[in-house]
Amino acid sequence: MTESSAEFIPAAKPIIGDDERLAVDRVMRSGMVAQGPEVAAFETEFADALVSGRTSVAVNSGTSGLHLGLLAAGIGPGDEVIVPSFTFAATGNSVALTGATPVFVDIEPDHFGLDPVAVEAAITERTRGIMPVHLYGHPARVVELAAIAERHGIHLFEDAAQAHGAEIDGRRVGTFGRFAMFSLYPTKNMTSGEGGMVVCDGADIARAVRLLRNQGMEKQYENEVVGFNARMTDIHAAIGRVQLTKVDAWTETRRENAAFLDANLEGVTVPPVQQGARHVYHQYTIRVADDRDGFVAALRNEYAIGSGVYYPIPNHRLPSLTHFAPGLDLPETERAAREVVSLPVHPSLSAGDLDRIVAAVNALAGAGA
Ligand SMILES: *Cc1c(COP(=O)(O)O)cnc(C)c1O
Repeated sequence: MTESSAEFIPAAKPIIGDDERLAVDRVMRSGMVAQGPEVAAFETEFADALVSGRTSVAVNSGTSGLHLGLLAAGIGPGDEVIVPSFTFAATGNSVALTGATPVFVDIEPDHFGLDPVAVEAAITERTRGIMPVHLYGHPARVVELAAIAERHGIHLFEDAAQAHGAEIDGRRVGTFGRFAMFSLYPTKNMTSGEGGMVVCDGADIARAVRLLRNQGMEKQYENEVVGFNARMTDIHAAIGRVQLTKVDAWTETRRENAAFLDANLEGVTVPPVQQGARHVYHQYTIRVADDRDGFVAALRNEYAIGSGVYYPIPNHRLPSLTHFAPGLDLPETERAAREVVSLPVHPSLSAGDLDRIVAAVNALAGAGA
């Protein structure tokens, strides 16, 4: 098959349309563009749609959300927080930014989430929290991890950056921890341009996050704590509110695309889904044990198909974070970093795109066998 003339299929494609443009225009015309009524409405609507019963606080990025959530929960110097190493650097960074120590623990091979047995073994008297990542939109083992946290009197925090609407046993991710963070970066399942939502399990932590995002002020110029400017603008919130009305349909399309790939890919390990889990397929991630990087290059160069490697270097070996864990060996993390490839699964794919992805992957997997 010669694909050189075929249109390139990107690994991700944010959908931004007329509704988003009109919403931005409405805010621009109002003349008030900083944090205001759009942000307040977005917070309420987000909680109602995705994590009913919780309080949401909007911030300027997902990374800010993790950082402020950890600070609001009292995490600081001398504390340890258990995190996966197989994740985006923002997870470990947010712990490090509080002055606490990220303690990197291995993952389970099937779903790429924190391994509860390894987590329990890593708990010390300094451990104050466990922060699993719902990687690729598949829920981590939050039920087991919440039980471990409870038994040890420590917190559970959720990095739900990639998992809007994911569930385990009918319960939404984002409702298990002291707080959870959802990212609203353009390549995530929904976007506000940049942004993050901190979903809190009580009024006290929600108030603390609100103070930290706004210079420590509730009443103007009566600063109670040392805080940041991590506010979301009404322009971004207006985009997010529109996207929120569409994310469920996009998720359904992601799930249909994934089901098609599951049914038609041959010769590669398709993503297993845990019993009782609702995977929202932020990424559709397969393993290619033999020459993953060659596979990625061939997909691009021979078939005009984009793919992604999330993530090629585990957090504990990044130059920025490796001093926290010199010489640490996490075998499943290392193997995943060597083998994973995420194929396009986003809701803009056509039936023809999906056929092309299947044909290309099956040809490459067959050729390598
Ligand atoms: C995207 C992401 C973040 C950070 O979110 P931003 O909005 O980009 O700051 C944190 N953790 C994970 C797992 C992510 O994928």
